[in-house]
Amino acid sequence: MLSITEIYPLISVPRKVVITTHQKPDGDAMGSSLGLYHFLEQFGHHVTVISPTNWADFLDWMPGTKLVLDYERQTTDANAAIDAADWIFCLDFNTLGRTRKMEEKLGNAKGVRILIDHHQEPQVDKFGYGVSETNKSSTCEMVYDFITGSGNENKINEAVAECLYAGVMTDTGSFRFPITTAAVHRMVAHLKDKGLQHSRVHEALFDNYLENRFRFIGHVLQHRMEIFYEYNTALIAVPQQDLVKFNVITGDTEGLVNYPLSIKGIKLAAIIIDRGEERKCSFRSKQGFDVNTFARKYFNGGGHFNASGGQSREPLETVVAHFKQAMMENKDQLSNYQF
Ligand code: 5GP
Ligand code: MN
Repeated sequence: MLSITEIYPLISVPRKVVITTHQKPDGDAMGSSLGLYHFLEQFGHHVTVISPTNWADFLDWMPGTKLVLDYERQTTDANAAIDAADWIFCLDFNTLGRTRKMEEKLGNAKGVRILIDHHQEPQVDKFGYGVSETNKSSTCEMVYDFITGSGNENKINEAVAECLYAGVMTDTGSFRFPITTAAVHRMVAHLKDKGLQHSRVHEALFDNYLENRFRFIGHVLQHRMEIFYEYNTALIAVPQQDLVKFNVITGDTEGLVNYPLSIKGIKLAAIIIDRGEERKCSFRSKQGFDVNTFARKYFNGGGHFNASGGQSREPLETVVAHFKQAMMENKDQLSNYQF
C-alpha cells in the first residue's frame, strides 16, 4: 500500500470514483463518506457513494444521503459503478469482509482501492494507496487531514463541515474519549470557521428518537441489564422478542451500550442482541480496559481500545454464558477501579 499522499497531485483530474464504507454504517462511516463526496465533487469527479447495507434513519438528515446506494437493494447500479470506477475509496473499515456481500465485488474490482481508516490490523495488501492510523479519533478526522494535507482547505464548505463534524463527534462519544486530541478540537474550530452549525447536528442526531425507541431503552434498562459489581461490569442481553415487541429497526439499538457506563464504578459495558441470523455484541470501556483485545479474543471481532464489537452464531444464552466466563477470566484487570 503506497502512501495516500501519492494521490494528492492527482486529485484535481476528474475520474470515476466510488466511495464505500462498512456495513450498517454509523455516524463516522456515513459522515466520512459523504464529507469526502462533497469534497471530491467540487473537482468534477463522478462520485458514487455505496453502503453495503441499509443504515439508521437518524443519519438521513446528512446532506447527500439520498444519493447513497444501498448495495443490497440497488445491487445492479452499485455493481455498474464499481465496474466503472478508477478509484474506490474504502472508509472506516480495515478488512474487505466488513462490507459483507460487497466483499467479492470489491476484491475483484479493476479500480484502485484507497484506504482511509483508523482500525487496527488493516489488510494493507488489498489497497493500492492508503492511510491507516489507529491513533486517529475517527475516519472523519482523517478525511479532514486528507483535504487539508492535499492543500484544499478552501474546498471545505458547509456540507463537508457538517458531515465530518457528525462523524468526529459520534466516534469520540461527543468529545469525551481519551482519543480526543487537541488536533480534534482544532479541526472543529476550523469547521466552525467554515460555517458549521454544530447545534443543528446534535439536534439531528440526538433529538430525533421515535417514542418506541425510548420505550425500548426503558424496557431493556429495567429488565435486561445485569450488573456484576465485583467485576465493575454491566451486561445487557436483548432477546429477539423485545426487538419485535418494540418494533426496533436499524439504528434503534445504537448507543444503548453506553448507558451502563454512566453507572458509578462500571468499567466494562456490554450488549448482546439477538438479531435472529446472529448475536451481535458491542463493548465499551473506560479506565484502561482494552475492549479491542477482548472482542478479538472472545467474540471474533475487534474495533478500538474503548469501543469494539463482535458476533456469534451461538444461541443468546450460550453467548451470555461465554461473556460471563470471559469477564471472570479478566477479573484482575476489571476489579480495580479508581476515581
Ligand atoms: P459497534 O459496537 O458500534 O457496532 O462497533 C464499535 C466498534 O467496533 C466499531 O469501530 C466497529 O468497527 C468495531 N466492530 C464492531 N463489530 C465488529 C466486528 O464484528 N468485527 C470487527 N473487527 N470490528 C467490529
Ligand atoms: Mn470510525
